[in-house]
Amino acid sequence: MAQTQPCVLVVEDEGAQREVLKYNLEAEGFDVVLAENGDEAMLLVAEEQPDLIVLDWMLPNVSGIEVCRRVKADPSTRQIPIIMLSARSEEVDRVRGLETGADDYVVKPYSVVELMARLRTQLRRTRPASMGERLSFGDIILDAGEHRVFRGGQPLHLGPTEFRLLSTLMEKPGRVWTREQLLDRVWGRDIYVDTRTIDVHVGRLRKALMAHGGDNPVRTVRGTGYSLG
Ligand code: CA
Repeated sequence: MAQTQPCVLVVEDEGAQREVLKYNLEAEGFDVVLAENGDEAMLLVAEEQPDLIVLDWMLPNVSGIEVCRRVKADPSTRQIPIIMLSARSEEVDRVRGLETGADDYVVKPYSVVELMARLRTQLRRTRPASMGERLSFGDIILDAGEHRVFRGGQPLHLGPTEFRLLSTLMEKPGRVWTREQLLDRVWGRDIYVDTRTIDVHVGRLRKALMAHGGDNPVRTVRGTGYSLG
């Protein structure tokens, strides 16, 4: 596994549909969190910072469109891809017309195969390393599918933790990560690891990246954490 698996939030008020989605998403290797309504969805978006949201249009109280609007209005969550599910194609037309910012739309009854394909398309864009893509930054190439790293054409030897750390950093060059965010992403949220552990692994990663020369590409951001470039 290149990284902790993407976390998908499913927002659906119908229990049976929720369970079908959970079953299929888990079978694809994703972490799944479930919400029954819009309020619960907004809480989970803040708490879990999901990598993608599958959002039903028809929800009691706060509608799917309102959830979508709120997620896309908040700068800290607007990058999360949203796939809207709707019962009728006219609703999809309305979603498009309303410009809620949803990234994709699937009409019910949908084929699970199609929904998963749409989901993977979104995640290849936002979580490329976790989807086995090949990433590059300067002269560094990370092949998440082959689990290999090269710098200036030379293969590098990284431990599994350093590989996950580098793939996380390479997904978002220039982003400043706090130690806590890196721990969540690289070790997983359910494991307790001292934040100083991250400094040890960043040190090892830098050493591995500079094994054949070249500058240190991992920047320490004082008082915050780390960024690539
Ligand atoms: Ca519904």
